[in-house]
Amino acid sequence: MAGRQVVVIGAHPDDELLGAGATIARHARAGDDVHAVIVADGAGSRYPAEAAATLEKQARRAAEVVGLASLRLLALPDQRLDTVPLIELTQQLEAILDDIGPGVVYTHFPEDVNDDHRIVARCAWVACRPYRRQRLGMFAVFETPSSTEWAWPLPGTPLQPSLFVDVTDTIDVKVAAMECYETELRDYPHPRSSRALRERAAYWGSHIGRPAAEPFLVLRQVV
Ligand SMILES: [Zn+2]
Repeated sequence: MAGRQVVVIGAHPDDELLGAGATIARHARAGDDVHAVIVADGAGSRYPAEAAATLEKQARRAAEVVGLASLRLLALPDQRLDTVPLIELTQQLEAILDDIGPGVVYTHFPEDVNDDHRIVARCAWVACRPYRRQRLGMFAVFETPSSTEWAWPLPGTPLQPSLFVDVTDTIDVKVAAMECYETELRDYPHPRSSRALRERAAYWGSHIGRPAAEPFLVLRQVV
């Protein structure tokens, strides 16, 4: 199934890697074109305004390492996506998806602790409603270390993976790309440390008898 168009939609710079970095690298190696969309600038709420430029540079370096075909930065307000009308973000995503015509879309798990993630997941789902995406074969959501596992521990819908991507051959690429994000990486045992990312991949890999895996929940598949 080489030569597919794949879109990864993340809220913040580095989410595309945290959730699906090794899977992106695997798609790229298989000859698929992987396009990343990063919705918020990732800087506004935490860093001085000039940090957005630094984050963009890091994102572009990481994109090269992981083998993205394209990277789109929408630069909407970080940690404030709730101030953007849902229709506005949905329409921006629709225009991009119309342009690319993806066969696969990956985005956030809609129950994450981070509200930006939840909003992006919701808008991506709306932008992928079936009549508008005839070529879309799979819509799947990923876990974002330091957000998916920190959601409310109340009865709800935890991420129960239904798709495991064997990333034994590309986990090193994910970690190398993530290390381009110097301002986002943390020391172990933070979930966004190189070692914890490897351990997490090993944990999910152990579910399926492989050295490393990334987990996804498939919300819609059409074959
Ligand atoms: Zn994020």
